[in-house]
Amino acid sequence: MNIKSMTQPELAALLKELGQPGFRAKQVYSWLHKGVRSYDEMTNLPQSLRQQLAQSHPICPPEVVRKQESARDGTIKYLWKLSDGNCVETVLMRYHYGNTVCISTEVGCRMGCAFCASTLGGLVRRLEPFEMLDQVLFTQIDSGLPVSRIVLMGIGEPLDNFDNVLRFLELVNSEAGMNISMRHISLSTCGLVPKIDELAEKKLQISLAISLHGPNDEIRDKIMPVNKAYPIEVLLAACRRYFDATSRRIHFEYAMIDGVNDREQDARELLRRLKGLPAHFNLIPLNHVEESPLKPSSKKAVARFQQILEEGGITATVRRTLGGDIDASCGQLRRKYSKGDA
Ligand code: SAH
Repeated sequence: MNIKSMTQPELAALLKELGQPGFRAKQVYSWLHKGVRSYDEMTNLPQSLRQQLAQSHPICPPEVVRKQESARDGTIKYLWKLSDGNCVETVLMRYHYGNTVCISTEVGCRMGCAFCASTLGGLVRRLEPFEMLDQVLFTQIDSGLPVSRIVLMGIGEPLDNFDNVLRFLELVNSEAGMNISMRHISLSTCGLVPKIDELAEKKLQISLAISLHGPNDEIRDKIMPVNKAYPIEVLLAACRRYFDATSRRIHFEYAMIDGVNDREQDARELLRRLKGLPAHFNLIPLNHVEESPLKPSSKKAVARFQQILEEGGITATVRRTLGGDIDASCGQLRRKYSKGDA
């Protein structure tokens, strides 16, 4: 395991084995979580220990391959090269309530959603906990902007990398680490029901976001293969269980696709199905992906959809699209890079 994926007690056990005094674990842990790139920066450690750790537990920080800043809204998008040469992207969004980092959880994705660029090349591998942490750390360091919120909405399906994601949450939330509150973290899933239940059992205070994108099986089946395994009623039942276990309102993401899921009757069907479940909707006009024939809904259709949901008692916001001028959405940069266009 990479040393930065270790919890403080695990690190303490390692250092004890190396004959180090008890206080070292906290020192090393906090250096690692400050984002040092080498053990030489750990100036309060004996030289011999620095050398030993550099040998046995290399730090492996990611490198910036490409950085783009939106001229419109200051959104910054990073493409990182990981130590094995794979690339993932991270987006920093500047909201009035705090700087938010959108991180990737996998290299590629195997969920196969029809509208998503991240899944086009399939799943390459899952990210290690430290590779998720590094995205937050090095985005903060490189940009000089303090990060207060995290969304797990970049490349990959977080619940398909469950154990590593949970460990990442523990690390980034730790007091001696970045100390980011669970309440300031959102995890988005396309709907892996058994994992939603497993997450509910942990009773974390994170927000759960569900990529719904359709009011029924007919529509979801067409655009989200995961719906064949976990149909909408099964998914919504899991959402109700999640709410019962955590008392956290569920966020639904809904990419609005012209002529596919944006009719008035679709909004009304959502109202019927979601009755009694405290929910919030994020309506996202589809980001067009080159390889896909799907197109975004008209502004008018989005506004009407929002109005119907609101009138039915479900709060719905239309997500402001940030970073549209820098392909800051959904695996677009990594995709271009790997095709040699970026
Ligand atoms: N795999 C997770 C998280 C990553 S995707 C999930 O499915 O939720 C983050 C969000 O972006 C999801 O809601 C996803 O469905 C959405 N998304 C993907 N491609 C999109 C596109 N082209 N336009 C708008 N939203 C998109």
